[in-house]
Amino acid sequence: MSTPPIATQQSAAPWRDPLLLLASVFAACLLGIASRPAGYSAAIWPANAVLLGLLLRNPSWARGPTAWICALVGYLTADMLTGAPWLRALGMNGANLLGVAVGWLFFRPYAASIVGFTRQRAVLTLLAGSSVAALGSALPATPVMQWAFASQAWTDMLMWLSSEMYNLLLFLPLVLAAPRGWFWQWDWARLLRPLRQAGVAPLLALLACEALAYFVNGPGMLGFAVPALVWCAMAYGVFPITVLNLLVCSWKTAVAALDTISFLPDQLAAVTSFRLGMALLSLAPLAVAVAHQLRSQTLSQLQQAVDHDHLTGALSRRKLMEQGARLVQRLHQQGAPVAVLLMDLDHFKRINDSHGHAQGDTVLREFAALVQRNLRPQDLFGRIGGEEFALILPATAASHAQLIGERLRSQLREHPFRLQDGSALQVTLSVGLHATQPPSQQHSLERLLAWADAALYQAKALGRDQVRGHWADQG
Ligand code: GH3
Ligand code: MG
Ligand code: MG
Repeated sequence: MSTPPIATQQSAAPWRDPLLLLASVFAACLLGIASRPAGYSAAIWPANAVLLGLLLRNPSWARGPTAWICALVGYLTADMLTGAPWLRALGMNGANLLGVAVGWLFFRPYAASIVGFTRQRAVLTLLAGSSVAALGSALPATPVMQWAFASQAWTDMLMWLSSEMYNLLLFLPLVLAAPRGWFWQWDWARLLRPLRQAGVAPLLALLACEALAYFVNGPGMLGFAVPALVWCAMAYGVFPITVLNLLVCSWKTAVAALDTISFLPDQLAAVTSFRLGMALLSLAPLAVAVAHQLRSQTLSQLQQAVDHDHLTGALSRRKLMEQGARLVQRLHQQGAPVAVLLMDLDHFKRINDSHGHAQGDTVLREFAALVQRNLRPQDLFGRIGGEEFALILPATAASHAQLIGERLRSQLREHPFRLQDGSALQVTLSVGLHATQPPSQQHSLERLLAWADAALYQAKALGRDQVRGHWADQG
């Protein structure tokens, strides 16, 4: 299942999306330009990753020329406004755009799994696609760099390549994992829920690891944050880990820039190694977060399947008995009444025999939907087996429960089941009811169901299509 694109609806103004794209590229370029050391290309460059991410999230944008033209305008205006010579700006940004186009062509077939990281292998796809996209811009950028900075081809190539890998592997996951909607539309309360649920301990551990790395220093400091990041990945999920990866790497880069590495070509080996090391390390927490997210989703889907009847969506017998027993016990403790209804479709076997099993299934589905429409959130409705269902109504007196039974019976009687030949099929229902009168009556759910079953048996014996009750004050 793919994450829906950022802008799912047709925007009110046709220029809104291209304008937002232009503004995003422009802002990302300014951020990169701010990190540009004198006389060389930028230390961080988020624009390409942001553009690529936006195009993958909004597949229709990339098909027309508008988005590409808007992106180029965004790149060029940021460069020109900050004083870059126009020919150099055109050359370097042409290379940027080529890299994005190559990345887009690579990622396009995997968009469904990479947007929102819905498959485990999306992390490897991210690595492969980022490498290809980085090459796609480094190759055309090399001659431009040589001409602009009069430097060595290999040096330029490796500097650009490592920078692109670093930027793509840190910024692209952030855009791909971001929740739906633009930044200002995000539901921040929902987004911060993992932090409230899992607490701040993983985050504090991360800060402690980083503090330790800062004081111990040395080449090993790159790895210090990994255990805490893995903990954060399991605690907070995919999008938060992309944010934390970026923050940790930015912090380490800033420390390195102030301390040891100049990010200029004269330190080619150190810069390349540092950038690639940082970027590749970020994949580990991301992979853990994705695996954890997928496992949680699978478990909750399995739980949903175990707890519900596949055909009707009603609670499974096991879940009904479990939840019902807890509910009945709580109601007894509160001294509140409880009503139990057992419902059995009349002559259901005949429906199967005369109109087919599929028609029987339709009847079961529609009956369950009819009951669900009549329920309060606190009521429990489950399929006991075959064409037999149970309803547990908390804090409901016998007279009211009887009214509900009657309402369901008459609604089913009048429900227009259509057969294939267009004729109507009438289905009727027998209901057995048992209600407790607190505080004197305290019985298990099994006991209440057994009494309701006895009442149901009576309803069948008395001719079906009726509600029969049995409750304490009746004796
Ligand atoms: P009564 O009025 O006495 O309840 O008679 P009945 O025919 O409804 O009851 P009986 O227990 O004889 O038959 C129930 C039938 O329900 C038999 C079984 O094949 C059918 N059945 C059970 N589960 C399903 C199901 O999931 N789908 C369909 N279509 N039929 C089912
Ligand atoms: Mg029946
Ligand atoms: Mg039956």
